[in-house]
Amino acid sequence: MLAPSLRRSRRLKRLAEKEQLKFRRMHVRKGDLVRVLTGKSKGNVGHVIEVYPEDDRVLVEKSNLVKRHQRPSAKIQKGGIIEKENPLHVSNVKLVCPHCREPMRPRTEDKDGVKTRICRSCNEALDLK
Ligand SMILES: [Zn+2]
Repeated sequence: MLAPSLRRSRRLKRLAEKEQLKFRRMHVRKGDLVRVLTGKSKGNVGHVIEVYPEDDRVLVEKSNLVKRHQRPSAKIQKGGIIEKENPLHVSNVKLVCPHCREPMRPRTEDKDGVKTRICRSCNEALDLK
């Protein structure tokens, strides 16, 4: 058995490591348009609502829906069964160009010190609106 103090320090170390993972880069970002490659939402195209780099997962709108049994509360007046998105593994989504709707791997270009992702087929920038 480990001393309680040592157990605690190991737990803190694991937490700190997870905190570090939050800064990992993934091939998609929040707001990107992606296509789901596997699972029951295969073929779905939607925007990335949230990214979880520490778990290698992304939340895609209207994809991988699961039914949740929701109790009515102060925040949510209506109870019953609601459908909610479940995070997908990042390897199961592919980036889609919002201009030509083609799945793609972007080319990066340096514009005044800022890296910009550019679609290889239509030459439109992804990050500039
Ligand atoms: Zn394009």
